[in-house]
Amino acid sequence: MAEKIIKTEFDVERIRGDFPMLSVMVNNKPLKYLDNAATTHKPFSVIERVRKFDTEEYATIHRGTYKLGERATILYNEMRTKVASFIGAPEPRSIIFTSGATQSINLVAYSFGHRYINEGDEIIISHIEHHANIVPWQVLCEERKAILKVIPVNDNGELIMEKYEQLLSEKTRLVAITHISNALGTVNPVREIVKKAHDVGARVLIDGAQSIPHMKVNVKELNCDFLAFSGHKIYGPTGIGVLYGKPEILESMPPYVTGGDMINTVTLEKTTYAKPPSKFEAGTPPISQVIGLGAAIDYINSIGIDRIQNYEKELLIYGEKVLQDIGGIRIIGTAKNKASIISFSLENVHPHDVATILDEDGIAVRGGHHCAQPTMKRFGVPATTRASFAFYNKPEELDALARGVKKVLEIFS
Ligand SMILES: *Cc1c(COP(=O)(O)O)cnc(C)c1O
Repeated sequence: MAEKIIKTEFDVERIRGDFPMLSVMVNNKPLKYLDNAATTHKPFSVIERVRKFDTEEYATIHRGTYKLGERATILYNEMRTKVASFIGAPEPRSIIFTSGATQSINLVAYSFGHRYINEGDEIIISHIEHHANIVPWQVLCEERKAILKVIPVNDNGELIMEKYEQLLSEKTRLVAITHISNALGTVNPVREIVKKAHDVGARVLIDGAQSIPHMKVNVKELNCDFLAFSGHKIYGPTGIGVLYGKPEILESMPPYVTGGDMINTVTLEKTTYAKPPSKFEAGTPPISQVIGLGAAIDYINSIGIDRIQNYEKELLIYGEKVLQDIGGIRIIGTAKNKASIISFSLENVHPHDVATILDEDGIAVRGGHHCAQPTMKRFGVPATTRASFAFYNKPEELDALARGVKKVLEIFS
């Protein structure tokens, strides 16, 4: 019955076969993994590519004057080109490998911040940011005596754009905004946000940690100045992330971490720095993880991000329907433009209890504040239960979620 709900041509059973973790049993029940906004599972192709690299091709990069080292360096650089083309970046040198979205944002806060943010300058974020896109700006503002401004959201969890326009001024240096809220699923109108920021001469960083896995993100079309995301949320390894930056801005920014590999020449008196991206990749990088990220991008491309988006949209509509049909549930985050994330609360039941009871049936959801405490506060809850889907989820898992939630409501009635 559920299958008819999904009209997108999509062989989800075949796709599930690509992901070994999806056949794991939890509490003697098949795992129903609905915590994809926290991290995603890896297909065999990613695991196998990393294994092959580590067992047959491994060497460090930029040093080896031997065959293996040269080959690893070429591979590493190919991955940079792959990432650039995946996000529509015209030049590979605009791609910096980091340890994750968090480090990417911190790099900009520190480096762009120390070059461009001065006393009295203003930085704009929104009320629905992940802590990773709040705390670095607070720290920077405190240090530089700059001012942090916040775009409010309406009761659906959508940015109030008129308020955003009022916050913008010639004092605005940077707008740091999430593309998709990890707590609510709201898709923000980032293109319009970028345009308006540029009108007052401000730069824009987009936190793409949640958008890259769910929709086509093209930095050239968005015309953003920076984009940050993580490998482990797009079916790749942990410990690897990306910062895209416009080359001319990266050139003008001071190094963030210093040491080997980011220099041009070093004497004991003075060091000159390499050009980006090397300038921002001090030390030995996570080489295997970069290879794994490349394999994850190949996997996504083999399915097609547009098909992924269409299928997940249908999952979202179906999931919201089966949950709402139960009654007694409040969905938090009801934006018109939403990604496949459903945050909800049940009256008189703590989300931790919901998650624990669902876990008995092998259903993995997140109960908590999702690293977005200001978002929780805005909606008057300490936490929510969050189900977040990937293209490997199927309607039957959402039926199981609905049955589980019903069970929770019965236990606590
Ligand atoms: C997960 C997440 C981050 C942080 O990503 P890490 O991989 O933990 O560095 C930042 N922003 C959003 C919106 C996220 O969902």
